[in-house]
Amino acid sequence: MFENKGRTEIEQLGEFGLIDHLTKNFAISNKSTIKGIGDDAAVLNFEDKKTLISTDLLLEGIHFDLAYTPLKHLGYKAVQVNLSDIYAMNGMAHQITVSIGLSSKFPLEAIEELYQGISIACEKYGIDLVGGDTSSSKQGLVISVTSIGTADEKDICYRNTANEGDLICVSGDLGGAYIGLQLLEREKNIFLENPNIQPDLEGKDYIVERQLKPEARKDIIESLKLMKIKPSSMIDVSDGLASEILHICKQSNKGCNLYEEKIPIDPMTYDTARDFGIDPTVCALNGGEDYELLFTIKQSDFEKIKNNPDISIIGHVTEASAGCNLISKSQKVHPIQAQGWNSLKGNQE
Ligand code: ADP
Ligand code: MG
Repeated sequence: MFENKGRTEIEQLGEFGLIDHLTKNFAISNKSTIKGIGDDAAVLNFEDKKTLISTDLLLEGIHFDLAYTPLKHLGYKAVQVNLSDIYAMNGMAHQITVSIGLSSKFPLEAIEELYQGISIACEKYGIDLVGGDTSSSKQGLVISVTSIGTADEKDICYRNTANEGDLICVSGDLGGAYIGLQLLEREKNIFLENPNIQPDLEGKDYIVERQLKPEARKDIIESLKLMKIKPSSMIDVSDGLASEILHICKQSNKGCNLYEEKIPIDPMTYDTARDFGIDPTVCALNGGEDYELLFTIKQSDFEKIKNNPDISIIGHVTEASAGCNLISKSQKVHPIQAQGWNSLKGNQE
């Protein structure tokens, strides 16, 4: 996939030359960054704030497929999925480190694209790249991003602090990233069978972008602050709504009722899921990779949030003994399961 771009072997630069080349255009923009790339460790100063740290590891063939993932998008996404964890604590992210393992199949031009994506994400979200590590890899590409953020202690939102009666809210819409992936996988298989057929993703931009280019919901954290709402618990939706609400309920020792008709699903997600013969609700529950925020709020915050077009109220927190349930559009009660793909699908009319 890199043939027609010119090919510079990484060995030509050496490890230090490569790091210099990749990072020279990253500027430091946060005053909390005292020292970025170039010494044995970065130096940061957060004064009286609490520090939040989160790491993700992405492996080629496990977390991404380069057959349909442009490296620029991959760099962008690697940063987003990591920032999402900081926002899910109700914090702001300020720095990242990026570590990469490179196999010899990657020319410099490919890694430049990866860093372009990283750079765009950093600029857009106000993040400084302050370090990392670089190694060769025997098999495929490895990327690990660590993000560093801050919050006032009183603002931090954990998973284990939801209260009975709280409203359950989710930002944006769900299921799109999963159905976008189905579409990309289908086009990849068609291409592998017949390389003359060009991928047909016409008009499917939204769901393809949901998969390839997710956006961490920094904007939601800012809106909540403006609305003077502190969620009683929060998590980001990386593994699907079902799995995430179960984490909140289990860790908070509570139950929940979610209402199928309230789950936000974009019309393109809905229609494409139907074309694939997949229940759109199942995509939202079990699809994952949407990187939306799932949170609970006090009932008294309802008035503040009810007209926000970016936030849907999808249920409420109950006592633990009531269990975690999805109330279907036809008012049937289904226990929510983390891996409920088959069982839930089989139950639904
Ligand atoms: P050390 O041998 O002390 O680990 P390195 O030579 O690996 O140092 O790194 C030199 C500097 O470049 C350090 O500041 C390090 O954080 C940074 N760095 C190394 N690899 C990367 C990378 N892939 N992306 C960003 N910064 C990097
Ligand atoms: Mg190193």
